[in-house]
Amino acid sequence: MSFYFDHNATTPLSVAARDTWLKTTEKYWHNPSSLYPEAGAAARRLEDEREKLAQILGVDNEENPGITFTSGATEANNSTISHFATANPSKYCAISAIEHPSVDAPANRHFGNRVIKLPVTPEGIVSLSSLEEIIARGNVCLVSVMAANNETGVIQPLPEISSLCQKYNTLFHCDAVQWFGKHPSREIVPLADIVIGSAHKFGGPKGTGFLRTSRHARELQMQNGGPQEQGKRAGTENLPGIAAMVSSLEDADETLILWEDQRQARDGFEATILSSLPETTIVAKNAKRLPNTSMMIMPSGRNLKWLTRLGRRGFAVSTGSACSSGSADGSHVLDSMGLSPEEINRALRISSGTDNGRDQWAALATALKEVAKDINHHETTTGKSLI
Ligand code: PMP
Repeated sequence: MSFYFDHNATTPLSVAARDTWLKTTEKYWHNPSSLYPEAGAAARRLEDEREKLAQILGVDNEENPGITFTSGATEANNSTISHFATANPSKYCAISAIEHPSVDAPANRHFGNRVIKLPVTPEGIVSLSSLEEIIARGNVCLVSVMAANNETGVIQPLPEISSLCQKYNTLFHCDAVQWFGKHPSREIVPLADIVIGSAHKFGGPKGTGFLRTSRHARELQMQNGGPQEQGKRAGTENLPGIAAMVSSLEDADETLILWEDQRQARDGFEATILSSLPETTIVAKNAKRLPNTSMMIMPSGRNLKWLTRLGRRGFAVSTGSACSSGSADGSHVLDSMGLSPEEINRALRISSGTDNGRDQWAALATALKEVAKDINHHETTTGKSLI
C-alpha cells in the first residue's frame, strides 16, 4: 500500500505526457538547429509547441508571445534575478519573505545588500502596504512574489501586486510553479511581466519548464552560447520534454474541475483532524489556499517522527519544502509567519493530486490518529519528549 501525498514536491508523469514524450523522442530526436530536413521538422515541431503553449497561456494573439523553454523553475528564477541584478547595478529588488530558495538564494547572491524582503501576515500573505511603501521610493527594478506558496498553499494577492507594480512602473516577476495545473493558466499571465512554470508539478517530466515575458521584460537574457530560443537561452532544446510538458498542461487545464473534489476532501480531512487531535493547528486555514495543500503543526513530536511513522504505514508526506529539507534550519516560510522554531519542528505538509480519493484522505486521517497515539505512548513510557 502506498498513498502519495507530496504532490507539491513533484507529481507522477501523466499518461498524456508519457505518450507524447515517447512519440516525440522517437520521431523528432534530431537537433532542431541542424540543417537537414529531419532537423527542420524538429525545429517546426518546437515552434508548434511554443504556439500551443501560447494558446494555453492566452498570449496567442501577440506578435511575440515571449515564451522561452527552460530546464525548470530553478534555472528560470536564477536567470531572471541575475539578469536584472546585473542590468540595474544600483537598483534594488523586493522579494517576499516566503519565496522559494530558487528566488531567495540568487537574490541574496546577486543583489546582495540591495535585496528588500517583503514581510507577510501571520496568514502568510505578502503585505501590500509594505510593498507600496518600498516601490514608491522609485529605486526598485524588480518585485518577486510567488503565485502560491509551496509549503502553506497560500495564494498571494496577485491582481493587487500587479496593479501596484504597474502604478510605480516596476517589473513583476511571479514564480507560478504551484499555480499551473491547479488554476487556469491564462488567469495569471496578464498579471506579471515574468511568469515561470515547471512541468513536473503538473504531470510533465522533470527538468523542463518555461518562462514567459511581457513586452516590458523582453530584454531578459538567460544563458549564453548558441542561438537557440531567439538567442535568449542557449542550449540544445529538450523537445520531447517540452512537448510532454505542453500536453500535460493542456490536460491539466481541461480537468481543473477535479480540484474542487480535492478541496472538499482536504477541508473534510482538516475538520476530522481538528476534532480528533484538537491541539493540531492548521496553518493559514482561513486564507485563500491551493485546493490540495494542508500544512499542519502537530500536537507533539518532531515532524520527522511523524514522517517516518507515516512512511511505515505507506503514506508519503513532507515536512515542508523538499528543496530546504536538506538544510539544518527550519522553514523560513513558517518563520516569517511568526511561528516559533519549536512549532516549525512539528510541521507536516500534506499535498494531494487529483487521484487521491476520499478513501485515501480518510486512511491518512486514521493513520495520523494512530501515530499520535504511538508518539504519546512513547513519551509516557520513556518519559522522553520526542521533540
Ligand atoms: N518554485 C517553487 C514554488 C517550487 O515549488 C519549486 C519546486 N520545489 C521550484 C520553484 C523549483 O522548481 P524546479 O524543480 O523546476 O527547479
